[in-house]
Amino acid sequence: MDLKIGSHVGMSGKDMFAGSVKEALSYGANTFMVYTGAPQNTRRKSIEELNIEEAKRLMADNGIEEFIVHAPYIINLANAVKPETYELAVDFLRTELVRSAAMGAKILVLHPGSHVGEGVQTGIKKICEGLNTVFEEDQHCMVALETMAGKGSEVGATFEELAAIYDGVARNDRLRVCLDTCHLNDAGYDVVHDFEGILKRFDSLLGIDQIAAVHINDSKNPLGAHKDRHANLGQGELGFEAIRYVVYHPALAAVPKILETPWIASETDPKVTLPPYREEIERLKNAGAPDYPTQPA
Ligand code: FE
Ligand code: FE
Ligand code: ZN
Repeated sequence: MDLKIGSHVGMSGKDMFAGSVKEALSYGANTFMVYTGAPQNTRRKSIEELNIEEAKRLMADNGIEEFIVHAPYIINLANAVKPETYELAVDFLRTELVRSAAMGAKILVLHPGSHVGEGVQTGIKKICEGLNTVFEEDQHCMVALETMAGKGSEVGATFEELAAIYDGVARNDRLRVCLDTCHLNDAGYDVVHDFEGILKRFDSLLGIDQIAAVHINDSKNPLGAHKDRHANLGQGELGFEAIRYVVYHPALAAVPKILETPWIASETDPKVTLPPYREEIERLKNAGAPDYPTQPA
């Protein structure tokens, strides 16, 4: 099976979603992740303005079978302090699921949320309440909870917390998980030395088949730092070999791998930054699969 790899891409201008597909193709990707607008805000164009048909045609013509959507990171289902923040998150998520389904996405990645001082248990309760509300409406798009770095009051930095969210959601058949290698490291999961152990732990708590996407990032910070600062491949604490091990892991072969590494200052004009994705994808492809230990039964 071909490596399923891409990066996050934008969506703007008159091309909109078709522009996202073109951007992904320019990186040599065969999958991608898109924000349906600016990741920092919830202003979105209507479905009719997204140029979906052309995007679908481009994907079909170029062998892109799968892509995922990422919800903006300011929406916070876990906020038990400000009702308006929670309400905005629920309303936005509802429309984002409709939009994602119209685009043809099966997976919408969501940061579970931050409990803003009210404690993990309260945060989890609020997240479950929100997801239960959103799932009242039928949509053919699932929500993949992202594993977080544990920065500030983020919920979802441990598999136990994600499992607790599954336990509180009636329609948890519509939930999946998105691993993030930088976040795993920053949360204290030793990707460099024990990715097999991480998968085993994940399998026992949630089931390995629940992994629907993997964000591929190096980390600027050491194991357990709870920081969340992405680095380019091989330029952080994980190193290229650990990332290669994750990317080619046989248990994740069918799962899209998405680069969210930082853009790099141009050599000719340092004020300009350029996406690293074409080079990073090529480097991973050229490296090929490493040797894997046989999975313990
Ligand atoms: Fe994310
Ligand atoms: Fe991520
Ligand atoms: Zn991150």
